[in-house]
Amino acid sequence: MTEKTQDLMEKIVSLCKRRGFVYPSFDIYGGLSGLFDYGPHGLALKNNITQMWWKQFVTDREDMYGIDSTITTKKEVLQASGHARGFADMLSECEKCKRRFRADHLSDRQKCPECGGKLGEARQFYMMLETHLGAAEDEASLAYLRPETAQGIFTNLKNIIDSFHPDLPFGIAQIGKVFRNEIAPRDFLFRVRELEQMEVEYFIKQEDWKHAFEMWQKEIHRFIEFVGIDAKKVHELEVADDDRAHYSKRTVDFEFEFPFGLKELYGLAYRTDYDLKNHTTASTVDLSYFDEETKEKITPHVIEPSLGVGRTILAVLLSAYTEDELGGENRIYLKLSPKVAPVKVAVFPLLKNKPELVEKAREIYKILKKEFGAVVFDDNGNIGKRYRRQDEIGTVWCVTVDFETIEQDTGVTVRDRDTGIQKRMQITELVDYIKSQI
Ligand code: ATP
Repeated sequence: MTEKTQDLMEKIVSLCKRRGFVYPSFDIYGGLSGLFDYGPHGLALKNNITQMWWKQFVTDREDMYGIDSTITTKKEVLQASGHARGFADMLSECEKCKRRFRADHLSDRQKCPECGGKLGEARQFYMMLETHLGAAEDEASLAYLRPETAQGIFTNLKNIIDSFHPDLPFGIAQIGKVFRNEIAPRDFLFRVRELEQMEVEYFIKQEDWKHAFEMWQKEIHRFIEFVGIDAKKVHELEVADDDRAHYSKRTVDFEFEFPFGLKELYGLAYRTDYDLKNHTTASTVDLSYFDEETKEKITPHVIEPSLGVGRTILAVLLSAYTEDELGGENRIYLKLSPKVAPVKVAVFPLLKNKPELVEKAREIYKILKKEFGAVVFDDNGNIGKRYRRQDEIGTVWCVTVDFETIEQDTGVTVRDRDTGIQKRMQITELVDYIKSQI
């Protein structure tokens, strides 16, 4: 990482902590590697992103079913899916400093990138987190925390078919937590051990896989634009045979130019009928689908768009982070799209010690709060400071009640975050103005 890119990551991490987006988990105990908590603004941003995904990938479509399956997973499921023996990375440990690295991330597999010591022989490191259900801690009570949301979808396929009788193609979607015991968690939200995924398993006839793959490829690009990730920094990578997951016949990675390198943002995989075949064999429950057209039983094939929530947030923040000069002063602001911004509007009285201004501002705040929810009231410090605070969290509009509002009934000033330009508007106009943009 160059000094400049490291600097950018540090700025983002620091802004996230300072302004209530993301905190290292268990901070007061020194933290725990690869775990992060979302503060109020981070949570609002996350909710906006997951809701936008749900709308585009599920509710706007006619062929999708949403579910919410458990995190704790019966071991037989992940044995059948191949994860219990296959979900592993190669680990190299330095003989001198004892640090551990993912072998495929090393440019020199012999030499420790930290201390220069000799690296030991690479060995398999299993990434699933284990737990035990019930009183006994033995092999029989062993369960896993899921490493992907997909398996909960496959194990519910029969339920969905029995309840809803969908025609192929159709998809099942879910958003949820997954766990990966990453060897080297790093780069803030990029590689964590407890993460959230937004996944679709799209069930198709085998002959339709190319068409479905391309359709989801386009949908992913559309989502990238929609959430405000800089599309110029996204590149597709056709994943080579040797690098693909054990279940995939074709994978395209959507890579983003992160400051620490061009790295995977999302994955799109053609999982074939691998999972359903394995679950049919292992569970002895027939997971095939009766095709009314051909009157044949078929095992559906699967296309899987898999999007990480944390990596989305990081890419959105990196795309939005801007430093410029406004009114002769340097400022930092998040150029977030109005749809994802955690706060849409901030309402201020020009002066804190003028009750008539405060009262009017509170009145307007209440109207906007009721209408949009993500609205804050701020009368702390001078107006310049308030603008800067709101800019840093990406608040789209700042509404100020001043003396003219009261004395001449000319409405309020509305300041645009990106340009700093203020215009006057009546309160009734204000609601429509905001509504049309979020
Ligand atoms: P990588 O090669 O970076 O380890 P992966 O290929 O194992 O990623 P997938 O199994 O395809 O990742 O997971 C789907 C998506 O989940 C990824 O594209 C990414 O957005 C997200 N993801 C996976 N692992 C992590 C992690 N440790 N931290 C944050 N997000 C992750």
